[in-house]
Amino acid sequence: MKTWYFIIDVEKCENCNNCFLSCKDEHADNDWPGFAAPMPTQGPSWIAIPTKERGSFPFIDVAYLPSPCMHCEDAPCMKAAEGGAIYRRDDGIVIIDPKKAGGQKKLVNSCPYGAIQWNDKLNLPQKCTLCAHLLDKGWEKTRCVQSCPTGALSMCRVEPSEMKKMVEAEKLEPFKPGLKTNPHVLYKNLYRFTRCFIGGSVARAVNGLEECVKGAAVTLVRGSETIGECVTDEYGDFKFDNLERGSGVYTVKVHRNGHGEKAVTVDLKESANVGVVYLS
Ligand code: SF4
Ligand code: SF4
Repeated sequence: MKTWYFIIDVEKCENCNNCFLSCKDEHADNDWPGFAAPMPTQGPSWIAIPTKERGSFPFIDVAYLPSPCMHCEDAPCMKAAEGGAIYRRDDGIVIIDPKKAGGQKKLVNSCPYGAIQWNDKLNLPQKCTLCAHLLDKGWEKTRCVQSCPTGALSMCRVEPSEMKKMVEAEKLEPFKPGLKTNPHVLYKNLYRFTRCFIGGSVARAVNGLEECVKGAAVTLVRGSETIGECVTDEYGDFKFDNLERGSGVYTVKVHRNGHGEKAVTVDLKESANVGVVYLS
């Protein structure tokens, strides 16, 4: 059976909020009977975009995580709902029935991703429907996917075997896999939000001025294992990414022919800027 999957590339999201706005445009004040009652005009839409800032000045990067309902196969919200108020369709879309869910405020806390919002005016829990009212009419994309200018959002309806191949080829992963909900929203380059980097710069003093050292060899070592190797860029910068938070003590070894060698150690709790490493 083919089911829908929502693929989100974290590296491509620029936080333009077009997805947020198109979701509002489609659902605020619009009633889609059988799919969703109107979303409030004020307040959040059904796709949040949390931000993650990593590193410290001047070595910082920022990532955004577009976060709709994950359309989980093993959805805790479904288990918590009374009277069949939340159900999963054969095509993988999880729907809150706007007629049956009235008054069930506890459903807001049943979602471990925080994807359900409470509509005070309608006394109703609500969330992303994956624009099922449009897909059922033959649309191939939700409004948010259509509006994304960078290609960060995409979707497909495929057999599980095909999805398995895509997951391996594209290195897709769920957010918070420990929840074991089998979500149908999968992320590419999720490391930008969930993992750490070690970065810094290499320089040397020339006639009392600081000069960037391009092409210095940098090696990242943990214990006896070499984790990564790179060379510094035009600005003397280096960066090792996709490291696990709290994964131990690392040594950054810097070497450039004719300019000697230096080493710096880092106990990696969060993304770390080791600052400027000076060679002779
Ligand atoms: S993300 Fe939350 S609301 Fe969506 S299906 Fe999973 S548990 Fe339910
Ligand atoms: S529209 Fe695309 S780039 Fe803009 S915030 Fe949403 S996912 Fe990110």
